[in-house]
Amino acid sequence: MVFKQMQPSGFEQVVFCQDDRVGLRAIISIHSSVLGPATGGCRMWNYATEEEALTDVLRLSEGMTYKAAMAGLDWGGGKGVILGDPKTQKTPEMLQRFGEYVDRLGGHYITAKDVGMGADDLRQVKRKTRHVLGIEGDPGSSGDPSPATAWGVYHGMQSAAQVAFQARSLKGLRVALQGLGSVSYYLLDYLVKEGAHVVGCDIDSAMVERAVKKFGIEIVHPDAIYDVKCDIFSPSALGSSVNPKTLPRIQAKVIAGGANNQLATLEEGYEIMRRGMVYVPDYVINGGGLINIYYEDPIRGGYSKSRAFDHVAKIGQTVLEILERSKSEKTPSQIIANRMAEERIEKKRRSIS
Ligand code: NAD
Repeated sequence: MVFKQMQPSGFEQVVFCQDDRVGLRAIISIHSSVLGPATGGCRMWNYATEEEALTDVLRLSEGMTYKAAMAGLDWGGGKGVILGDPKTQKTPEMLQRFGEYVDRLGGHYITAKDVGMGADDLRQVKRKTRHVLGIEGDPGSSGDPSPATAWGVYHGMQSAAQVAFQARSLKGLRVALQGLGSVSYYLLDYLVKEGAHVVGCDIDSAMVERAVKKFGIEIVHPDAIYDVKCDIFSPSALGSSVNPKTLPRIQAKVIAGGANNQLATLEEGYEIMRRGMVYVPDYVINGGGLINIYYEDPIRGGYSKSRAFDHVAKIGQTVLEILERSKSEKTPSQIIANRMAEERIEKKRRSIS
């Protein structure tokens, strides 16, 4: 059954880890290591079933392959999941044992933070393996990924504006920003400085207050964000915010934001195209955080913010290529992005075989 699930997308390796003495049940999935070590965070989640955990780790590791490939990194895609309640079942012994399993893979899989895992948890993992990145607060760490993510979203947005409006900057454009959390906070700095007019919303009044105080932006009720007259709609909160109910309400010509899994289904990609809108694939525009962590890897000489941010800025060029190809091939941009990632991997595969 597992082989059947692994086959269609060509997963390389799935490792099941179990140690009853410390209550560990974990799965590590290596989707692809063609471009380099399979990298992706470890999530701890109280999955209802083992099948659910397997499906999740496979899906997430495959996503990492595409994300790393489009970010231009020499990394493949991997992911880990630990089955259990992160609030009540996590112990140092369990995390260290997970670290031993990671270590056995000899650097073939590099782990990092994900839902249910914090910096202290990763420190436990790191006691048993050096193949861990992104421990915030540790010497040499790349720190909070949000500023890098925002830098990439800003460059992606500029490219989308160039394609959609032939605009040379975001000056004078109206941006509807859904969610005013970490990524948006840094993004707002770039947008406001460049002279974009931002209308924002958040369900958390503290986030609204912070954004208004620092940037003086206009605020609407979270339900009203889809109806805002704007040029760019920027989902930066939750997934699936572009769906059959919301898409007809979105007034913007461009959808470009930091959130993961913005489109409810692939069908929204086709509908966006039919409506003459431009969508910047989420996993490409929000790849800045991953790029940032890449430069933390000791084999690259230690973290350098300037090298990392220079690389993140290249997201703009990648977005331009995707959107131009999407236009000429009359194909939704996220399908084009997937194709470009696959082409890069295939080229590397050929060169090494
Ligand atoms: P965050 O939790 O700091 O901010 C998200 C904000 O969205 C919160 O303030 C929350 O109150 C708000 N929100 C939730 N539901 C909402 C709704 N219905 N309407 C309006 N606001 C709502 O998260 P973040 O780190 O800023 O990340 C934002 C998105 O970007 C997430 O989807 C995340 O997965 C994705 N992302 C983040 C990074 C990163 O570096 N932080 C990297 C890649 C992708």
